[in-house]
Amino acid sequence: MTHKTLVAGVAVDTRHWIGGERVASADTFTDVSPVDGTELAEIARGGPAEAAAAVAAAKAAFPGWAATPRAERARVLHAIADGVEKRLEDLAIVETTDNGALLRSHRRGVMPRVAHNFRFFADWLLTLEHEDFETRGHTNHVTWDPAGPCVLITPWNAPLMLATWKVAPALAAGDTVVLKPAEWSPLTASLLADIAAEAGLPAGVLNVVQGLGAEIGDALTSHPDVRRISFTGSVPTARRITASAADNLTPVSLELGGKSPLLVFADADLDLAVDLAVEQYDNAGQVCLAATRLLVEETVAEEFTRRFVDKAARLTQGDPRDEATDIGPNIHERQLEKIDGFVQRAVAAGARAVTGGFRLDGQYYAPTLLTDVAQDSEIVQEEVFGPVLTLQTFTDEDEAVRLANDTRFGLAATLATGDRARADRVTERLVAGTVWVNCFFVRDLKAPFGGSRHSGVGREGGTWSFDFYCDLKNTVTAPKGWKDHG
Ligand code: NAD
Repeated sequence: MTHKTLVAGVAVDTRHWIGGERVASADTFTDVSPVDGTELAEIARGGPAEAAAAVAAAKAAFPGWAATPRAERARVLHAIADGVEKRLEDLAIVETTDNGALLRSHRRGVMPRVAHNFRFFADWLLTLEHEDFETRGHTNHVTWDPAGPCVLITPWNAPLMLATWKVAPALAAGDTVVLKPAEWSPLTASLLADIAAEAGLPAGVLNVVQGLGAEIGDALTSHPDVRRISFTGSVPTARRITASAADNLTPVSLELGGKSPLLVFADADLDLAVDLAVEQYDNAGQVCLAATRLLVEETVAEEFTRRFVDKAARLTQGDPRDEATDIGPNIHERQLEKIDGFVQRAVAAGARAVTGGFRLDGQYYAPTLLTDVAQDSEIVQEEVFGPVLTLQTFTDEDEAVRLANDTRFGLAATLATGDRARADRVTERLVAGTVWVNCFFVRDLKAPFGGSRHSGVGREGGTWSFDFYCDLKNTVTAPKGWKDHG
């Protein structure tokens, strides 16, 4: 039986990648394309045995990789980036076929950034240094020691992008990895395993296991040999993972959901504000950072809404492989049912759909804007993860900040204002890991990224990533006791 499946003309191995070998499971699950419902592949359905094998492989490979000089680790990471760039078109088309996000974004934005993830953390590793300092004549020297095998668990909305935000710094840090991609988008992780092997990454340093959520996840997160768990996904799964990691006190980094606000003040460039608002439909609304709550100053709300509806109506929705498409499908029938459930309950509770509010043919949902929503309602408080925005108005800065901060999340916030002093005042009061002022989605890997409250625990990016993936050590050396001191 062959374990390679052709997906959009690209051969993808559907087995796990453990200890430098392809490993099958007795059972499989079916991977379906959200683009047209095609069954793409039968994927190995791992469980506790595969989890144990992958952690054992990562543990065995750890001493060798940890002892590999920094410059050599960095060289291998750059070789992986070269491999990603060489196979950019394959990765882009497979990802689009698997998760339905736009091919043009994958080609021009996402996959180049996947390569950049490896280059950035390889280069950052070489600059990672803390200045020595003295304490009563003693020298303090801080080092970032590799921590051990890491379990990395990722979602389907930006599969390879989010996976490599974790894989790259973990490998750079000298750790070994067991990556478990989401079952709705398992394919590009398998291609990454091929690319890493070709780049010369030693066997067992990166392992990829496939499977359905807890079925394989619990065995990974409760494993006593795992030194770090990094998870991006939903709040309920984060709770379960944290509980599972508790027995071993394994450190957990969590990048979770959001219900981020976009605050539009009357002094803003209104066209810019409308552009920022419509951008929130990107990836069919399946973006953790999406500013799904539009908070608009009352005096400009009518005009803003008119321009927003006009602009939203000009979006092209359809096949994500088509260059002209702005919005593709949602990932899964289950996700569409969830999205529509949120919208129908909101409407039943008195919300008004200014635009959208219904399913379209296939796996598509009409871009939706709901008004007349109460602050404590489900649609304002809970993450929909679809192309659904709400609009509320405010009359002054205090009310804007109060509404913005009044959810259990704190991932991001976006501000549209023409007044710098106001931008400073409001930003200072917002609870959010990232605040964008008159822009959206600009991210440098040097910057800390993460969420407050239920949006997450910890920060990724630059040195923050190494702080998580390493055991920091401070060595205090006395001036006395040396033979050469006589
Ligand atoms: P999810 O929590 O359902 O699944 C995420 C991953 O966890 C999948 O790989 C899944 O198989 C795995 N999993 C499920 N149960 C598990 C368990 N018990 N043990 C171990 N692993 C388990 O999330 P999703 O639906 O795939 O992703 C959408 C969510 O991710 C949204 O809430 C979104 O906001 C969030 N997200 C956050 C960020 C961020 O950076 N903050 C980025 C993207 C997505």
